[in-house]
Amino acid sequence: MRGYIYARVSTQNQDYKRQLSELKLYAEQHDIEIVETFQEKVSGRKNIRPELERMKKSIVGNKNKPDGEKIDIILLWEISRLSRRMIDLQKNVFFFLDEGIRIYCKKDNWTTHTEDGKLDNAHLGMLSILASFAESEVQNTRDRIKSSISYRLSRGDSYATKPPFGYKIVDHKLVIKEEKKEGEDLSEAEIVRRIFNDSANGKSTHKIGIELRAETGNRNKWSNNTVLRMLKNPCYCGYAYFGKTRQRNELKEGIDKDKLSPLIKVETPAIVSKELWERSLEAITERKSRSKALQTYPKALLRGLLFCPICGHRYTYNKKLYQCTTLGTDKYDYCGAKGISVKNLDYAIWEMISTFFKNQMSSEKIEELKEPLLNEIRKLNDNINIYMSHLENLEKEIAEQLKQANNFLKKQMTRAYNLTIDNIGKIEDQAKDTEKLIEETHFEISQRNKKIAKIESSNISITEVTDKRDFCVRVIESIHLYTIRLDRKYLYIVFKNGLSCQMWYRYNRGNRRSYYAFLIDDGTVAFNWKQDQILSGLPKDILDSISDFTICTNTNSYFGEEYFGEFTYDEFWDVLLKHNYVHIIPE
Ligand SMILES: [Zn+2]
Repeated sequence: MRGYIYARVSTQNQDYKRQLSELKLYAEQHDIEIVETFQEKVSGRKNIRPELERMKKSIVGNKNKPDGEKIDIILLWEISRLSRRMIDLQKNVFFFLDEGIRIYCKKDNWTTHTEDGKLDNAHLGMLSILASFAESEVQNTRDRIKSSISYRLSRGDSYATKPPFGYKIVDHKLVIKEEKKEGEDLSEAEIVRRIFNDSANGKSTHKIGIELRAETGNRNKWSNNTVLRMLKNPCYCGYAYFGKTRQRNELKEGIDKDKLSPLIKVETPAIVSKELWERSLEAITERKSRSKALQTYPKALLRGLLFCPICGHRYTYNKKLYQCTTLGTDKYDYCGAKGISVKNLDYAIWEMISTFFKNQMSSEKIEELKEPLLNEIRKLNDNINIYMSHLENLEKEIAEQLKQANNFLKKQMTRAYNLTIDNIGKIEDQAKDTEKLIEETHFEISQRNKKIAKIESSNISITEVTDKRDFCVRVIESIHLYTIRLDRKYLYIVFKNGLSCQMWYRYNRGNRRSYYAFLIDDGTVAFNWKQDQILSGLPKDILDSISDFTICTNTNSYFGEEYFGEFTYDEFWDVLLKHNYVHIIPE
């Protein structure tokens, strides 16, 4: 008979060799010529077995070959070598049987055929039992691994083999990485703290990533996703779950969920407080819903910031209008306040903010861009100081050696003299190299200074919609919209820094264009809102005699001495026009 040996290379080499020699012995005793030995190196669980596949390929059509070329038997140590999955095991066994090949397993003392070459039905019936043994063995091994893991976890060992950023593993335990790497300003733990603080204070993961990339010079490490994954990892605030990924992967392979071990919660050394961790997560959720809202109405910059002067409620918004949608309160059937175009108001208010907060806006941005460059310059300057002191030492050394050379010359010690001169040459070379280094470093610094100058001189403004919105929310406390007539409006804007601002907004029916003007509220112009509760109680003729605006001081910086007293909206608009405060809103 001609046969193959199919064996799995075990990690315990001795055992493997013994199994192989026992199979060879069996072959000798039964007059089997071993044509080839196939040695598999893959684990029993995975269904990829290149050697098994190669063996199967070589025997396709075996049935029809002449006797001298046919393979008659395959020798195995254990049936589970063919597969640990019942279904695959049966498939493989029947594949060989179909090709007229019998199977013999030494350890199981199992074979497909009786001594006289007939199919052994009793043995074949046992196949499913053997297969289920094979399967349960995999489960056992897994349980053993798991129990050893839970033992290690109970001892306080790290749950992760690769520590998350900000940690290291010392003696199997997770430890916070507080120490700084050479030449770096912040330790990993400090970077983690800063990331969480930034996120809790409203900085987007996108922005955090950009800053880290600039600072570390590592373009690949700090992606948006890396930052987000960090911010969602509870390990940083003191706990972690073990077994999560394992479960997910196994569910994919279609394994019974009940067989899996539950998640194990383990404690970790916290880098940030639980409170900060949660605040950051809340901020992320808020930003997410905000950006979703932005996708629906990308231009409603001031949503949530406008208030109704009549009922006091917040204005709602849609694609076109900010408006008060308060209906049927006990005081008013319908509030009666008028709406305003989202596009136009956003434009006018943004222009106004850009004027008032221009410096703050661009200086924030400029600082953001300058910071990494300034850091580099600081480091380069430190380097120059080191090179300078090195150079100084070298020069002293040269002076010293020259003195000695002179002495040797006087004493006519030629050899010593020559050696010293050689030595001086070497030191001079070193000094030259150091000078060159200093020069190069100066050049590096000047390059960075050029970049900084370029940043400072450039006109940096906020262009991203999300950034604009962030800025508005940061600086605006409230906006009240007063409608005097449908096409004549007055807005009162209060900033978070305590300043306030007045805006006039007017729609011209003739050319269908909108105009606006704004002034800081320094007390010069008073707006007399006739629907105000205090005024609205007055008799009608008195009410009618109250004008829309009063210019209170004639020494004002806006209009000069000639303007003082009462003005209607139209009269006041003319004043604004005359003093070039009116701007047009582009279509
Ligand atoms: Zn209202």
